Amino acid sequence: MFVVLKNKLNIILCYILVFTLLFVANSVTSIASVATSPSNKFCVVLDAGHGGVDGGCVGSTGVTESEITLKIAKKVEKYLDALNISVVQTRNTADGLYGVFASGFKMRDLRAREEIIKKANPDLLVSIHLNSYTSPSSRGAQVFYAKDSEVSKELANSLQELFQKNLVQARKSALVGDYYILNCTNTPGILVECGFLSNPEEEALLISDEYQDKIAYNITCGVLNYFDLTQF
Ligand SMILES: [Zn+2]
Repeated sequence: MFVVLKNKLNIILCYILVFTLLFVANSVTSIASVATSPSNKFCVVLDAGHGGVDGGCVGSTGVTESEITLKIAKKVEKYLDALNISVVQTRNTADGLYGVFASGFKMRDLRAREEIIKKANPDLLVSIHLNSYTSPSSRGAQVFYAKDSEVSKELANSLQELFQKNLVQARKSALVGDYYILNCTNTPGILVECGFLSNPEEEALLISDEYQDKIAYNITCGVLNYFDLTQF
């Protein structure tokens, strides 16, 4: 069982580590330079929510949840790749996983994701979504975890702390969430609601490449804390 680290020093080290490795991977030498890190034993399934006819929630600009979740998932993959953590994406394109669009497509889509998780047998699952609410004033990123999973709760709390420190008006606390994608597996996991598309200011942030990157960066740090990688 991995230990979730919470102290500030490790969080700072985590940021330095990610930045350094990405700099090395992107500009100086090949990714092979970090291939011997102890992180290569880990596998993470990234689940970009929705897709295809199921766009999820929609912002006032017409942007869909499914577009943004895919972009954030790909950014997290880039960071984890640089750290030699293997990644399996439930989807790599704008398409859903339901096959033919017909009655029951949503459950087929979820079951296809479940199959991918089972086949990958990862150490961790991170599902990425965006929120929406009738009141446009609701805003803020929030992390959810399945009840009865203590390690998922610890990861969710540590990532929520990072969001609170680094994002504008993140929600105060992580919560238990009753989601199929979390309940369908014993793999520890979290569902990240990265913000509210129903809030115009947050929608503007969520559309921006810079803010998507910031969220991806924080998710990556949460994952690293979970795997205790800041110790090497
Ligand atoms: Zn969603």
